[in-house]
Amino acid sequence: MTRVVLTCSRCLTDFDFDITSNFTIYLTKATGTVEEDEVELAEEDLLSVTYTGDEIDLTNEIAEQVLLELPYKPLCKEACLGLCPVCGVDNNSTVCGCMDSRPSMAFSSLGSFKVKPDKGE
Ligand SMILES: [Zn+2]
Ligand SMILES: [Zn+2]
Repeated sequence: MTRVVLTCSRCLTDFDFDITSNFTIYLTKATGTVEEDEVELAEEDLLSVTYTGDEIDLTNEIAEQVLLELPYKPLCKEACLGLCPVCGVDNNSTVCGCMDSRPSMAFSSLGSFKVKPDKGE
C-alpha cells in the first residue's frame, strides 16, 4: 500500500490518500550476458525492472503505478463542500453565508444545517 498526499479538487485541502492496489516489482539484474527466461510476465500488474550495479532506482516505476491509481478529481471526502466561490473560505469548516439569498438569516439557519450523506447517485 502506498500513501500519497493529494489536494482536494473542491476545497484545495491536502489529504492522505491510500493506494490500495497491489503491484509487484520484479527486479532483474542486467548482467549483459545471461538471459533469464525463468521469469513469467503473465501477471498484468507485474512490473519488471532491469537494473545494473548495486543501485536500484524505482522512482519512475513506482510513480507510474501510483499515477494510474490516482483519482481524476481527488476529493478529501465524498461530501466535501468546497470553497465558497464568493469569498473563498472553506465551507467544510466555515459557513460564510455568501450563498444565502437572505443574509440576515444566515446565522439562524445554522441550526438546521446538515451535511447530507452521499447516497451514491
Ligand atoms: Zn475537500
Ligand atoms: Zn463566502
